Amino acid sequence: MPDRPSRRGEFELIARYFAPLAAAAPGALGLTDDAAWIRPAPGEELVVTTDALVEGVHFLGTDPPAQIARKALRVNLSDLAAKGAQPLAYLLDTVFSRGVSEEWIAAFAEGLAADQAEYGVALIGGDTTATPGPTMLAITALGTVPAGRMIRRSTAKPGDDVYVSGSIGDAALGLEVLRGGLADLPEAARAHLIGRYRLPQPRLGLGPRLWGLAHAAIDVSDGLVADLGHICETSGLGATVEAGLVPLSAAAQAALVRQPSLLAQILGGGDDYEILFAAPPEAAAALADLAGAEKLALTRIGRVTAGSGVTVLAADGQPMALANAGWRHF
Ligand code: ADP
Ligand code: MG
Repeated sequence: MPDRPSRRGEFELIARYFAPLAAAAPGALGLTDDAAWIRPAPGEELVVTTDALVEGVHFLGTDPPAQIARKALRVNLSDLAAKGAQPLAYLLDTVFSRGVSEEWIAAFAEGLAADQAEYGVALIGGDTTATPGPTMLAITALGTVPAGRMIRRSTAKPGDDVYVSGSIGDAALGLEVLRGGLADLPEAARAHLIGRYRLPQPRLGLGPRLWGLAHAAIDVSDGLVADLGHICETSGLGATVEAGLVPLSAAAQAALVRQPSLLAQILGGGDDYEILFAAPPEAAAALADLAGAEKLALTRIGRVTAGSGVTVLAADGQPMALANAGWRHF
């Protein structure tokens, strides 16, 4: 069987839909060569990250293709943001299900074009194949930091405050709405939650400004508790989180008032793509200024401690038992 979409040839698809997305990057050579070149500014290092999205796992075949494209790009940009990097370019591997139409591919490319304009990145290469199975999309994003400045997970210090940007839990609740739950929430709240699930906001304004303030950082993709657990594990430390300090949107608050048991989903669910970071208490004033400048909430939710693991404290100060400790594929 031919290993490519049958509508147009693979090369026509690339030329028509993907080459325009590479126009701004001279090293992409119009997607006509075997490889692309990139030249970081002197004194900068490349920060590299990749994420794959699989139909039926990360998105549904019936989801709008532009939204799938934008989420695929944004989850990668979120990783760059959490590392303090400025985005530079990305690569795109598309393994299209044979059922995918050319209109789907066109709309997918339009979604990428919209976000390229929003975030100032260009496509510089990729691969195009087809499969009898579900569609698989993989993006590799490249960013830059001044040499030695990538913010790591493993460098939290005991006594650091734990902060998170924006609000937590909206995406998990949005997925709940899409699954038919939270039917008694006002329509505007339901729409807000779905929007946060479908279209994350990579915190690219914040990330690069955390250098010198944050000791360690991660983006919240697996879930607040699980991702803080990753910082703790790699730093050889523990952390406590006060559940009552975790920042919630008005929509999430409304959901929680109706159904208090949703707290486990809020703290454990994934896909928020906020930045979770550890910073010393001395950074508090500078972080308050940064939050004002970025017009983005930065909320202290707990503390890094000696020991291991994440302890979530309820309003009465007692540790909570959380069943859902984050998303796992295996
Ligand atoms: P090769 O045979 O060297 O693997 P391809 O024929 O796969 O090259 O691709 C030709 C060019 O088109 C390359 O520059 C590649 O990076 C680019 N390309 C292919 N598919 C995509 C895609 N989905 N997105 C972006 N660029 C792509
Ligand atoms: Mg190839």
